[in-house]
Amino acid sequence: MRRDGALSFATATFRGFTGRCPNCGIGKLFRAFLKPVAHCSSCGEPLGHIRADDGPAWLTILITGHLVIPALLMVEQRTSWPEWVAMIFWSALVVLLVLLLLPRSKGAFIGAIWQTNGPGSEKQAD
Ligand SMILES: [Zn+2]
Repeated sequence: MRRDGALSFATATFRGFTGRCPNCGIGKLFRAFLKPVAHCSSCGEPLGHIRADDGPAWLTILITGHLVIPALLMVEQRTSWPEWVAMIFWSALVVLLVLLLLPRSKGAFIGAIWQTNGPGSEKQAD
């Protein structure tokens, strides 16, 4: 059962960020890497209809870019490692950050959309 008005935006977003149901904070939000569950296993809140669209990808790219580019510029000025090592290292760092951040970003967006009943939270007619 949805607790209308009882949860703050920050709480719902944080619960989504941690991969938990924004309503109860107990049930899992994802059944696969980026696939949200249809309903929370703990409280039954419908979550599968919430579409985060491009928001999580935008946030992931924003954070990854702001972390990697300054680090890359600082390190590359101070080191003289071979180009192939640099290419593998920075590429692997970007892939790792994206894999870590993307599900968390999607969870945060789902939590925020759920809390605000924002666009993307309309139930689809089945
Ligand atoms: Zn729940």
